[in-house]
Amino acid sequence: KPQLKIENLHVSAGGTRIVQGLDLQINGGEVHAIMGPNGTGKSTLAMALMGHPRYEVTAGSLTLDEQNLLEMRVDERARAGLFLAMQEPGEIAGVSNANFLRLAVNAREGREVPVLPFHRGLLAKMQELGIDPSFADRTLNEGFSGGEKKRNEILQMALLKPRIAILDEIDSGLDIDALKAVAKAINDMRSDHLGVLIITHYRRLLDHIAPDHVHVLKNGRIVRSGGKDLADLLEEKGYEAVSGEGEGAR
Ligand code: ADP
Ligand code: MG
Ligand code: MG
Repeated sequence: KPQLKIENLHVSAGGTRIVQGLDLQINGGEVHAIMGPNGTGKSTLAMALMGHPRYEVTAGSLTLDEQNLLEMRVDERARAGLFLAMQEPGEIAGVSNANFLRLAVNAREGREVPVLPFHRGLLAKMQELGIDPSFADRTLNEGFSGGEKKRNEILQMALLKPRIAILDEIDSGLDIDALKAVAKAINDMRSDHLGVLIITHYRRLLDHIAPDHVHVLKNGRIVRSGGKDLADLLEEKGYEAVSGEGEGAR
């Protein structure tokens, strides 16, 4: 079973301290959700976990299956099975979606995946996710709508078969049908071999992917943890009422 351990994590970006003492453990088979208002450090946490160079870890420890992630580059973390669907995935000029995906799968698996079976698998997954086959040949994310980018991130996840997946606002920009397709794809991947961290503002996605644990992030720290009912409470009462420091924090 995969195991991601975050202990007393502190992250700075652009000279500002953003994540300030965050503890979280995610095991295979578990789905965790982090909720919190804008600007509380959710994306900063995600970027730091993946090893984005603009996000500096100033204290704390971060391990995946007892490997020290802090000593590993982004590509090494991906190879170890960490996956991040970014809130705003970028374009890569001159690289087709299919080629990008094949290179990423090769890197993850540490072998050259034969082209034909790869393409067959790719097209099958695209169909499942309601992505038009023409998106295989298009430049990665160029001219993709918000919802198309999000579905494409889930396509990447399905092909890469990560051990720990971090999904940063994967629900933003999705209409209800796309939301259901994305939720179904994630639910289909749920197993003891995968731990999931869903970052979201809204309960909406969590109505389709029942999380085992919900955490509220405030000022770069988890101030409250609970079960699915905590997401319901947040939607009903808002973050201020629910994020009283100390209450159930862990
Ligand atoms: P969230 O995802 O919860 O909305 P972010 O992690 O994106 O929050 O941002 C948290 C705070 O950190 C914000 O005040 C934001 O402006 C700041 N921040 C995020 N990334 C950077 C960066 N690369 N450089 C400087 N400040 C940043
Ligand atoms: Mg935000
Ligand atoms: Mg964010």
